[in-house]
Amino acid sequence: MVFDATLLGISSSTPLKNRNHTSLAVKYDGEVILFDAGESVQQQLMKVKISYMAITKIFITHFHADHFLGLPGLLATMSLHKREEPLTIYGPNGVEKRVRTILEFFEIQTVYDLKFVELHNGIICDTKEYQIIARGVKHLLPNFAFVFKEKDSVGKFLKEKALALGIPEGPLYSQLKDGKAILWKGRKISPDEVMDYKTIKRGKSLAYVVDCFDANYEDFLENVDVLFHESAFMKKDLLQAKKTRHSVTINVAEIAKNAKVKKLVLINFSPRYDDLNTLLHEVQSIYPDAELGQELKTYNLHIKQ
Ligand SMILES: [Zn+2]
Repeated sequence: MVFDATLLGISSSTPLKNRNHTSLAVKYDGEVILFDAGESVQQQLMKVKISYMAITKIFITHFHADHFLGLPGLLATMSLHKREEPLTIYGPNGVEKRVRTILEFFEIQTVYDLKFVELHNGIICDTKEYQIIARGVKHLLPNFAFVFKEKDSVGKFLKEKALALGIPEGPLYSQLKDGKAILWKGRKISPDEVMDYKTIKRGKSLAYVVDCFDANYEDFLENVDVLFHESAFMKKDLLQAKKTRHSVTINVAEIAKNAKVKKLVLINFSPRYDDLNTLLHEVQSIYPDAELGQELKTYNLHIKQ
């Protein structure tokens, strides 16, 4: 079982020849969840061999073009390839009307079901294995930050006990791990015979934050394992950052420090900077454990057997 995140782009506002619009593809146990869909999202997905057909959910932070220009093309390609599974698109208020209007404008008809969910503060998506939590942040338009949180797993499967009971490896193990009793050679075997429920494994988490100028969400990001956070401007360009409501290096560093995140990956850089190391140095002066996000790089949260 894989839980990782691949950066498809790191550029805010306009792409550059070597930087694409910011988007993040999270893989979780065969599912792909996309955060934003920049202009070149399809080709970026192909380069990292992530199938767009595996995408189940798309989260759009806000409706500035650089965060969802790639969406209509992606939806059209899924249709041309005869996708059958439904797809859910999450976005700020009005997401359904906006996306349907764009599709109509481009004469795109989807052959699969599109579902829409309007974002609000709190848990947006709750599955057996993970939660996705949203939080409104200040920008020129309604905009949301996200935390993807894997649930803690309670219990450790004791394989030696199962083998001692004569149970062969295979699907019966999965049932026991899921807390279901099984019948083996006429005897009912309950999960607590082969599970250690005193063991708790903490779930991993990541966060995705772009296009915001406010620091009132540190609690939201507390103890996140990997924080992908925009670092659009250097401190010398603070006025521009305020005007366009984007993050400044030193504020991002303070947020990461106060939230005690384990790792900070900087993304969504203004195209005005050629050398991103200058931004990195400003962040590292406050929060040393920071790195520049790299396009097409995959960040492993964990690989579980
Ligand atoms: Zn924006």
